[in-house]
Amino acid sequence: MSKVVIVGGGAAGLVAAIYASKCSNEVIILERNSKCGKKILVTGNGRCNYWNEEINTAHYHGDIELMNSIISLNNQEKVLELFDSLGIKKKIKNGYYYPMSNQASSIRNALVNEAILKGVSIRNDVLVEYINYLDNHFVLNTNIGVINCDKVIIATGSKALPKSGSDGMGYNFLKKFGHDVIKPLPALVQLIGKGKFFKQWSGVRSYGTVSLYENDQFIRKEAGEIQLTDYGVSGVCTFQLSGLIARGLYEQKKEQIAIDFLSWLDVSFDEYMSVNEGFTISQILEGSLNYKIVNMVLDMCNITNESKWSDLTINERRKLADTFTNFKVDIIDTKGFDKCQVCSGGIPLKDIDVNTMESKYQKGLYVVGELLNIDGECGGYNLAFAFLTGMIAGSSVLDD
Ligand SMILES: Cc1cc2nc3c(=O)[nH]c(=O)nc-3n(C[C@H](O)[C@H](O)[C@H](O)COP(=O)(O)OP(=O)(O)OC[C@H]3O[C@@H](n4cnc5c(N)ncnc54)[C@H](O)[C@@H]3O)c2cc1C
Repeated sequence: MSKVVIVGGGAAGLVAAIYASKCSNEVIILERNSKCGKKILVTGNGRCNYWNEEINTAHYHGDIELMNSIISLNNQEKVLELFDSLGIKKKIKNGYYYPMSNQASSIRNALVNEAILKGVSIRNDVLVEYINYLDNHFVLNTNIGVINCDKVIIATGSKALPKSGSDGMGYNFLKKFGHDVIKPLPALVQLIGKGKFFKQWSGVRSYGTVSLYENDQFIRKEAGEIQLTDYGVSGVCTFQLSGLIARGLYEQKKEQIAIDFLSWLDVSFDEYMSVNEGFTISQILEGSLNYKIVNMVLDMCNITNESKWSDLTINERRKLADTFTNFKVDIIDTKGFDKCQVCSGGIPLKDIDVNTMESKYQKGLYVVGELLNIDGECGGYNLAFAFLTGMIAGSSVLDD
């Protein structure tokens, strides 16, 4: 019988514990918080978007070429079966899975209760400070003393939202065993822009597209809701680009976004405006755009509120069209680890056996969840990755 310690009782750690306890292992979770799964409770705005019906590499960044076996259909089925067996009834919206209760606590409680039922010993308020390997076993220094065990699953999360308990300690545990760490950076995070116009658009939610340019080269375009704030931009659409932007800024690249507030137009801007030539420009656009955006763009183009399309010169028309459809914002920073949902970077998958999640540097040491160099888009992909890797590691500690 092996004694297995799981460091961190988050999404990955809880699932790892449930699977590890399926044999006669002694399984212990050490969690620094007074309860497990604190971060799960804030996911999906408190509703927990725990899965997506389209789990594939197109929705992830990092070592995606090495993650295929982790997200295999067989593994996906196993995790979904677990949730079914726990009594989680799913509600699927645009492919995003939520618990029918609309409460993240349903997921957290189901995992904690199952772990307890399976005989896992959950020790809360235990901070692991250091992990060593001596005389064929692991030695964990904690705030309550030394704990020895045969196998360790490190599930400490990244540096995202440190107040939830994940402050990046896991990276240091793994460095000690020879692992490289790709610089963790915020992802799925709000973007801070440079400019004087943010007060004017603050509070507006708009639909459109956002294109990312890195050193003036087009990189990627996202469509959806854009939240305009007094520091820059937020919302799912910009979140999807934020990891790339954070890494670009870290590498000292110029990061710029271009917003098309009118991407939904099915005719050219010229045609759209010309149809209602008798109205002022504000009157035409306020039917479809927030007045704050209309006023701001008119200000920037030095066009008065009373102006009609027919009053404008060709150059004024071009400038107006360009500002509404290609609104450039230089991004100078992100809101950082305190606000981000995940981190990009982490432990490279090349140093992990992806069939077991065991370290290639240290036998008996397993690495799961967001600690790894994989980050997903919004849509349930990050929790799915945490559950999948937790399931693989938990199943693997049974094998030898
Ligand atoms: C606001 C927000 C909303 C999100 N929404 C979604 C969503 O809807 N869908 C989705 O898929 N993803 C979402 N995510 C991302 C998702 O929550 C994470 O990717 C996922 O929780 C990672 O799981 P993990 O187990 O690897 O790490 P975590 O959940 O961070 O768990 C790590 C655990 O380890 C503990 N720990 C850390 N260090 C130590 C130590 N030294 N000793 C003991 N314990 C330690 C921590 O206290 C923590 O409980 C969201 C994240 C945030 C912040």
